[in-house]
Amino acid sequence: MSQCKFLATPKLDFIIKGFVLLVGALFFVPIMLSQQIKIDTASARAMLKALQNSNLTNDQAMTVAKLEGNQGMIKEMHGLGEADTEEQFAHALVAAAHGLPARTPAEESYMFSAVKNSAPAISALLDQIEAGFQTQLRDHIRPYVARPDSVSVRGFVVAGGDGGGYAFGGQDFYLNIALNDDIVMAKQVMIHEAFHGAQGAVYHEDTEHWAKERTLPADLVRGAFCSSTAELFMDMRNEGTAKFVGSDDILKDAKGPTGQRPYAESLYGKEHLSDSANLLEISIASLQAPTPVPYRVVYSVDFWGRGIVYSISSAMVSAIVDQDGPAAVAQVIQQPGYDFVLRYTRLKNYGKDRAHPRLGENTVSAAQSLHDGCPSGSPSPSTAPSVRPN
Ligand SMILES: [Zn+2]
Repeated sequence: MSQCKFLATPKLDFIIKGFVLLVGALFFVPIMLSQQIKIDTASARAMLKALQNSNLTNDQAMTVAKLEGNQGMIKEMHGLGEADTEEQFAHALVAAAHGLPARTPAEESYMFSAVKNSAPAISALLDQIEAGFQTQLRDHIRPYVARPDSVSVRGFVVAGGDGGGYAFGGQDFYLNIALNDDIVMAKQVMIHEAFHGAQGAVYHEDTEHWAKERTLPADLVRGAFCSSTAELFMDMRNEGTAKFVGSDDILKDAKGPTGQRPYAESLYGKEHLSDSANLLEISIASLQAPTPVPYRVVYSVDFWGRGIVYSISSAMVSAIVDQDGPAAVAQVIQQPGYDFVLRYTRLKNYGKDRAHPRLGENTVSAAQSLHDGCPSGSPSPSTAPSVRPN
């Protein structure tokens, strides 16, 4: 998985207030941005226009569904187990445009009626995004990518569905403008998601190969554990670096409640890093239990909702940058997640203060084992030598 905490943002109230109603300009206005980052608002613009059409036909709604950004929205809904076909999208859109309730709870999850009600504020936010957002985005990300001129990412702005921002591991990312109630939050989410796009451009870790290469029954068990832990460490690397680059500190200027809430939660998380490290340790232990907890369950507890494992992940990145400088982020995203974990444990200040909490023995052992190729005879956590800071 490569989704974000934003993916699991609870269905927030569409409280988007305080923006000036703009007249007209509801048509798609593509922005061709810098060579490195492109932002496409066509899906969101088409959505707003369609929702104003009380005679919208199913064919017209299907045309909106086929736009590239809206295809991402449908894919995201699939990941959440909600309505995930173009037909459902179109039905939900037609119903909202006609002022009718959605046919099913799944189609209701697109929340198109709420988008319709917030159309003026959403349009105003789109205007701000189209007014040069890409330059800010590019400048913010450049210091953390080794060869930024060779990295090309695309952002799609959509309006509707669940999750405020998401990416799927490639170079495309998505912002759901309907769940970002001011431009400050939209900026922070886009930086975060754009950095996921940059990650997708520079390195891809095949975390599943551990399971594929093992054929003996005992090795299948071992392989599944290796894959799951590699996935968890990769998600920590991806989310930790994206959260470091798209810092929650940006949100201290957020005016709306959806931006203020994650900022307050991030402050709490920084004060409780040991809890975050402990949940990580419990997660690793659960993955190697006699009946392992499925990784999707671990992921949802660690990264969705309040996203407790985000805190230790981003703190690990901060600690690495404190010692080795910003260029270390570019190095980290070109290496497997388990090496990111090991790099943290080897910092001079590892385990010496609250900003550098020790990781659990199961956690460090699992990272070391992956680094060593995850051999079948890997020492059990109780006998594994812990990795000590140099
Ligand atoms: Zn993320």
